[in-house]
Amino acid sequence: MAELNEILGNERIKEHFITAVHHKKISHAYIMEGDKGSGKKMLAEAFSKILQCEGRETTGLVESCGKCESCIQMEYHDHPDVIWVSHEKPNVISVGEIREQIVNTVEIMPYKGPYKIYIVDEAEKMNAAAQNAILKTIEEPPEYAVIFLLTTNRGAFLDTILSRCILLATRPVPGTAVEKYLVEKCSVSKEEAEFAAGFSLGNIGKAEAIVSSEEFQDLKELTLSILRYIHEIESYEIADKVKEYKKYKNRIEDFFDIFLMWFRDIMLLKADNSVNAEAAKKKIIFKNEYAYLKKQVDKLDLEAIDYVIGKIHRARVRIKSNVNFDATLELLIVEARREF
Ligand SMILES: [Zn+2]
Repeated sequence: MAELNEILGNERIKEHFITAVHHKKISHAYIMEGDKGSGKKMLAEAFSKILQCEGRETTGLVESCGKCESCIQMEYHDHPDVIWVSHEKPNVISVGEIREQIVNTVEIMPYKGPYKIYIVDEAEKMNAAAQNAILKTIEEPPEYAVIFLLTTNRGAFLDTILSRCILLATRPVPGTAVEKYLVEKCSVSKEEAEFAAGFSLGNIGKAEAIVSSEEFQDLKELTLSILRYIHEIESYEIADKVKEYKKYKNRIEDFFDIFLMWFRDIMLLKADNSVNAEAAKKKIIFKNEYAYLKKQVDKLDLEAIDYVIGKIHRARVRIKSNVNFDATLELLIVEARREF
């Protein structure tokens, strides 16, 4: 696991944690909000490691020693006083789970560390009853308790919870820092790193997942094979291509992202008045596809680009609400083609 000072970006959150430790003012409840892959878990875990470190008293530093038993247990995700709350159903954290794993155990003193830390990932999945159950603990916590609610959406929480937690929101990491990280840690080419950094919009978890996934590369190639010729694709070809997406059903968000980024690039090139192609390429994500993009830029006006982008958002919502998969993809491609 990464140490707090090794985590890229999110300086404000890191500073908040360091100041809290320095002044010995640790809050009992934190909400960490950010997209999947934006570093919430990493930050919560690194902060927990510092809080629990036994060697810190001798070093006097606001960082974990990395050598004590506690630090080693953190390294193996095996610290008895850092509890990751789990849930059985994929879309809900029930009141039973919150009672069993938090409310009923929080009064029991920490086993060894100075703190007893609970980390609830995907905390937006707590239903109202579960939130009311955790609220009591947040209102009157034992001195040693620290609760992290990690979420993609703070809007899902009751106001009573929001008002009692410190809210920390993750921010995108600058593209150049993501690129450097990918080249150094994941040994990818500069070109690949540049694409992943841009495509992930500074979400380092997403960028890392992209460069290490062969499936993503295949999905990207398939989608580009449609997008390059979307202005003249035949209806029978659309049906054939859509069939190929069956095996990527779990990655369909990536399909929409690729589609969206393609039209975002067209939009940027449309508004661009760079002196030459090299300068224009710097602004877009699909740099290797410049020639194909440029051809399409001349065929679309801003209104049409806007229209297609709107349709991509709508298709995404439809898939989430379980509308027929093939029909949704097919309709999106047809609607995009119609604008040329
Ligand atoms: Zn330590």
